[in-house]
Amino acid sequence: MSRKHIGLIYTGGTVGMRQTAQGYAPMPDFATALARLLDDHDNNLPRYTLHEYDTPIDSSNATPEDWQRIGRDIAARYDDHDGFVILHGTDTMAYTAAALSFMLQGLRKPVIMTGSQIPLSTQQSDAPQNLIAALQVAASDAVNEVAIYFNRRLLRGNRATKVSIASLDAFDSPNYPWLAETGSDMRFDTQALLARADKERFELPEYTQHLVLPIRFVPGLPARVVQAMLDLKPAAVVLQCYGAGNVPDRDPALLEMLKRANAGGVVLVACSQSPQGKVSIGTYAAGAGMTAAGVVGASDMTFEAIFAKLHHLFALGLSPDVVRKEFLRNLSGELTE
Ligand code: ASP
Repeated sequence: MSRKHIGLIYTGGTVGMRQTAQGYAPMPDFATALARLLDDHDNNLPRYTLHEYDTPIDSSNATPEDWQRIGRDIAARYDDHDGFVILHGTDTMAYTAAALSFMLQGLRKPVIMTGSQIPLSTQQSDAPQNLIAALQVAASDAVNEVAIYFNRRLLRGNRATKVSIASLDAFDSPNYPWLAETGSDMRFDTQALLARADKERFELPEYTQHLVLPIRFVPGLPARVVQAMLDLKPAAVVLQCYGAGNVPDRDPALLEMLKRANAGGVVLVACSQSPQGKVSIGTYAAGAGMTAAGVVGASDMTFEAIFAKLHHLFALGLSPDVVRKEFLRNLSGELTE
């Protein structure tokens, strides 16, 4: 069997940084450091071609346009490679992974995102282990989706969330099993992995930023704050509710303003501040009014997947009514129907 050829896209993140007087910042010669590491493992690794972004970024600077760029770069090189590894900062990796999963639907090869908590240039870095394993996963025939590899876990990209600031176990997927766990070997959960599609169904629209606003309920949040955000005329609002999808219902003004916004074409979706479980509006009376106001429950999707999915659906040019419907359709394994 010929050696697999992986496209390695370096977008930025701690993995390629070094300590400076101002804190961690991208290091100038990442390609050489990478080659030094990977050449040592040459025999058991696939071949790779590095596509290095001119200006590597801290992923906290990423915007939907950056998601679009990465999606299009993968699509443009799709036929040249057997799989892809995307090196990315951890802070917004889950958002980019979710967006890529909506752009690259029906994948027939692996797209594996990884990075590290400690720069490659530093001793005790977690970068070598993450990078080498990500390359191995990208060369496997088992994976046909966008996934995050981090510290021995392979997670569905649109189910993952960053759970730790500094632990090497930076990611988890609270509502979905890990796709693989690695020890001395790689053990895939074949039940959990997406099946290989018959044909790719890529959607690479222009991610001209539509305004998708999160509103997080906190005890005592004045209804006028919600109104001020709705006055910004967002395309969609993600209501970060309590528990099963509950909001304060003693003040009728809140539900009234949601109802008006919904009638005016704003897509309103409800997720939970609790990472595990499925939103079920109306389990409690304190959530019941939201259905009447036209709010759509976000099932068991992560906040990152919800945010990226709304951007994607609006980028496709869909009307608010169609966005509401498509939002609840499972596009890429992001929700349990
Ligand atoms: N701030 C960094 C980033 O997201 C953190 C990391 O890479 O771990 O780019």
